[in-house]
Amino acid sequence: MNIRKSQRNLKQNLEHNPLFKPWKKGMGRVALVYPNRYVGGITNIGLQYIYAKINSMDGFVCERFYLDVFDGLRSLETGTPLKDFDIALFSLQYEEDYFNAVRIIRKSGFSGLKVAGGPCVTENPQPLLDYLDVFVIGEVENSDILEKILKGEIEGDGIYTGGGERVKRKVRRLKPDKLEDHLLTQIVGEGAYDRCVLLEIGRGCGRGCTFCIVRQIYSPLRWRDAELILSVAEANREAVSKAAIIAPSPSDHPKFKEIVAGLLEMGFMVSPSSVRADKLTPELMELLAEAGLKSLTVAPEAGSERMRDSLRKGIDEKDVISAAEMAKEKGISSIKMYFMIGLPGETEEDVKAIVELTSRVKEIVGSVSVSVNPLVPKPHTPLQWMPYGGDFSASPQDNLEKLEEKSKLLKKEFARMGVKAEVESVEKFAVQVVLSRGGRDVASLLTTKPKLSAIKKLGLEKYLGEIDVNQQLPWDFIDVGYKKSRLVREYERILERAGIS
Ligand code: SF4
Repeated sequence: MNIRKSQRNLKQNLEHNPLFKPWKKGMGRVALVYPNRYVGGITNIGLQYIYAKINSMDGFVCERFYLDVFDGLRSLETGTPLKDFDIALFSLQYEEDYFNAVRIIRKSGFSGLKVAGGPCVTENPQPLLDYLDVFVIGEVENSDILEKILKGEIEGDGIYTGGGERVKRKVRRLKPDKLEDHLLTQIVGEGAYDRCVLLEIGRGCGRGCTFCIVRQIYSPLRWRDAELILSVAEANREAVSKAAIIAPSPSDHPKFKEIVAGLLEMGFMVSPSSVRADKLTPELMELLAEAGLKSLTVAPEAGSERMRDSLRKGIDEKDVISAAEMAKEKGISSIKMYFMIGLPGETEEDVKAIVELTSRVKEIVGSVSVSVNPLVPKPHTPLQWMPYGGDFSASPQDNLEKLEEKSKLLKKEFARMGVKAEVESVEKFAVQVVLSRGGRDVASLLTTKPKLSAIKKLGLEKYLGEIDVNQQLPWDFIDVGYKKSRLVREYERILERAGIS
């Protein structure tokens, strides 16, 4: 949304915001900054929760900032400049957001307390230390951390203010055992799933995909009761006709089918964030089709069985094919598939298997789109030590070139097949790797969008190469809740399975 469109939307009252609270003299002003586009921010249930919570507190008002609304420099609600606020809470969902956050801080002239939270911060806040004051490690929801920060108490579990490897005590991730009741009153705007009620059916994931950060930083797995979810939907029935089901792996909810059926019965169109191919049954597919699902999204992640095994994805080719057949049968004529390249020990054959699987699915459903991105070895996952590109015997430069060749091959093949493909830039993802695994020394990259040349200056081997398992890591000071020795063992097993070591 550009500024003009956002102003028009506001004038036409396209955003329904029952939580707006006017500022009065003497009240603390809190800015909730989402340094990315409005469509993503408005569909983030965590941000909705923080906004509602602060606006329910005496003495504080919260207003929102988005990158594409007033350039992130003035609030959406009242157009108040960021520099007039006392505290700014930045939500960092992706490494790319770091650049936007730094630019907003610099351009706005904001001089109050700068706090950051979100998955990237929980993963590794070190590259951001020069720009922000306080980092929240873990989940803000269901804890008293917000109250503490607003009162100026910035120490204790879940709070990091600097010190890196030298911190005396590890910073414990905030991980509430239970989820609070669901947010009943929500802001409704034109988001990634259109205008809808957000239903967070659970948090965390019980599966063990080796590349996945979610299973680590949002553990333990917690589901909400189907009855509670349906009651939230019921309360919002008058305001919206669509429901977005949110969880890292929603179809693993023990009552997923009942939730979809219940929503359908209330007259909602339903949009699940994704569905696992191995969880689909003809009955569930029929429900999803009836609930308005036009395109099915599945994530095989890899083309070959060998690579999927090393990722421990738990989905095989027959699951994907049978999902496509069921979709076709129930009138869903389009499928979107997610893949990654640069997996440990990946060969050209493994990359060609992506093309073959896509081709088989296309033969069944006709319309297929794919999204391919290079694997980013994420902190706290067993793959955190692997080289970017996945070839352990190649130099970082060679790995970059090999990734480029694989991307080229995929683009060519998809174009030949008439498949709509988004093949992400190898260079852009290299920057993500550096920001994910970097220490405070990579902070200089954040002042402009860096090119590979800037990373080369810092040292390709150090940031994109394989990391020794005995090396101290910039994120070792965070106690996420696992034993490092377990990750090492898992890493060794992955390498063994992939024929490395
Ligand atoms: S199923 Fe999804 S959320 Fe769960 S571990 Fe695998 S990739 Fe992560």
